[in-house]
Amino acid sequence: MSESDLVADNVAVTLGGRSILAGISARFRPGEVTAIVGPNGAGKSTLLACLAGLRAPDTGRVTLGHAPLLALAHRERARRIGFLPQTPEVAWAVDVETLVGLGRTPHSGARGLTEADRLAVRAALVRTHTTDLARRDVTTLSGGERARALLARVLAGEPAWLLADEPLAGLDPGHQLDAVDLLRGFAAESGHGVVMTLHDLGVALRLADRVIVLQGGSVIADAAPLAALTPEVLARAYGVEAAVVAGTAGPLIELIGRRDG
Ligand code: ADP
Ligand code: MG
Repeated sequence: MSESDLVADNVAVTLGGRSILAGISARFRPGEVTAIVGPNGAGKSTLLACLAGLRAPDTGRVTLGHAPLLALAHRERARRIGFLPQTPEVAWAVDVETLVGLGRTPHSGARGLTEADRLAVRAALVRTHTTDLARRDVTTLSGGERARALLARVLAGEPAWLLADEPLAGLDPGHQLDAVDLLRGFAAESGHGVVMTLHDLGVALRLADRVIVLQGGSVIADAAPLAALTPEVLARAYGVEAAVVAGTAGPLIELIGRRDG
């Protein structure tokens, strides 16, 4: 147990009379990249929102170190946990550098950005390969460019935890690889951890240190990728027949077909 673990303790959420999360317990440690996978509607985004302190569980709680997340002041929580939503809205026609600068809000006061803030913004632009986009109006970006700019905004806040809801969706293969490197590099820095939901099981297999499989609001596997993404678990979670096969650069998940019945 570490001072900076992020811990879900029996987190349950009910919406519209339906159980969405049925008492989830999981511990996330700095240094690890955890992928949360599962079929549509399994509760992945809901769990991530609870872990980010953006949704209060109906029962159970999330703690960061020894503090209940919801007891932390909003700014303090925002400094420690960066959250990247699945379909981020970009409401204003600002340039990318300004958007990324908004990521400094938990640090900066009303007086505007300090020199340290500007350095963090520049570093985030470099890491996400968006320096060339700095002067572009965010509303004119492609989906993939916008995704990178929004990742830069989160990184500019220099959080200890990065919680991202399907951060690779909408990125072309080259930028997916860049993002994978970036997320792994982030988690490798002292005191940092990554928790993300992923759609692509092959990416989960290769990117994550650990995979949590959610199904119907419950954890049905929580282990190292190869131990979690077994044919039995994939059959149960997705109703598919799948096999783990050897690829050139590592194991792959081969989708064989729908399971009968
Ligand atoms: P995932 O990210 O795994 O696709 P979500 O966490 O987004 O799943 O949603 C889990 C379930 O909660 C889904 O079945 C969804 O329809 C349901 N849900 C989400 N928001 C609400 C709501 N406001 N009222 C009722 N059900 C909801
Ligand atoms: Mg989702």
